[in-house]
Amino acid sequence: MTPKIARFLTEQKPATPCLVVDLDCVRGQYRALHDALPSSRIHYAVKANPAPAILKELHNLGSFFDIASPGEIDICMKAGIPAQKLSFGHTVKTARSIAYAYQKGLTLYAFDCLEELKKLAEHAPGCEVFCRLGVLNTGAQWPLSRKFGTTPESAFTLLQQARDLGLKPAGLSFHVGSQQTSTEAYGDAIAQAAGIYHRLRQQDITLDFINMGGGFPTYYNSPIPSIDQFGKAIATAMTTHFPEGAPRILLEPGRYMVGSAGVVHTEVVLSSKRGGGDNDPRWVYLDIGRFGGLAETEGESIRYTFQTPHDENTANRSPCILAGPTCDSMDVLYEKNPIPLPEELKAGDRINILATGAYVSTYCSTGFNGFPPLDEHYI
Ligand SMILES: *Cc1c(COP(=O)(O)O)cnc(C)c1O
Repeated sequence: MTPKIARFLTEQKPATPCLVVDLDCVRGQYRALHDALPSSRIHYAVKANPAPAILKELHNLGSFFDIASPGEIDICMKAGIPAQKLSFGHTVKTARSIAYAYQKGLTLYAFDCLEELKKLAEHAPGCEVFCRLGVLNTGAQWPLSRKFGTTPESAFTLLQQARDLGLKPAGLSFHVGSQQTSTEAYGDAIAQAAGIYHRLRQQDITLDFINMGGGFPTYYNSPIPSIDQFGKAIATAMTTHFPEGAPRILLEPGRYMVGSAGVVHTEVVLSSKRGGGDNDPRWVYLDIGRFGGLAETEGESIRYTFQTPHDENTANRSPCILAGPTCDSMDVLYEKNPIPLPEELKAGDRINILATGAYVSTYCSTGFNGFPPLDEHYI
């Protein structure tokens, strides 16, 4: 919680539930990543939080942007970002959305199979393409493996086919999984990419870049490496695997850029042991849940930190099952691993959920049970 957000909450007393994002914090994250890998080009992964205020802030700092749909192209262009600063990093695109992007002026596209490459050759002729490798997501708390990426052998073949189809083979990409807590994940993936890079050189193809995707973590409540440690690991791997000079590094951070900048402000709707027995578990229902934007509690993967008005007394805590406000029984945030909360907690109390700037505002349903989408404040 930044002082600016704390002041906003005290002075404005906004209606709950809402998300408050401190743009100074977003700026700080961008600068820290830029300092950690000064020669890299940063493409903010728009899906993490597409709020115009964030896009404009990052655009002013010189950021590029990674988009996944015509909708995200429109949001970026409306925020004043030119098409040359957008990459279409999604490997699964309709022909229509490729044609739309091409017509808007996008020149850089991802793919991971021949069928998609043919679509690109037809609807974005002559454009730059990069091939996504499937890499291990070990160490990631929100893995992105299996659904995307191909093998080194097929990437080697596909990038030559790209050239034969009149496209420009520009790079290789990978994503080591979101909320990646191990710096080694990048080194392993860079080693794989380097192998293909060198083999392609022998086929007269020199790739411009290695796109390392996102994955850089946000602090939730267990320790994570600093961005400088990730930077060092990546720089070391690049020097090791490209002794004769390395291609450019592209990064697509999403969570890292905005996660720590946001706080969800929520109200306790009900706190009860229901059955009344001493051994019955205590249930705490908040006015935000799985369908209000906290989708990453799925499988209890992302474990947020909760600040309550009764935190001075740390002794008086007991484990609570935390649930959202809707009539759906799936709308439970933490049950297998309950959250210790103060005994005094009661309906009407306000709780802050920290580090919720990424992957919350857009995961929110549009009116399930009549609950309106999350209010958002960018300050
Ligand atoms: C989601 C996504 C990102 C951002 O990942 P984070 O872990 O949030 O940094 C980057 N690249 C692609 C292709 C993605 O799908």
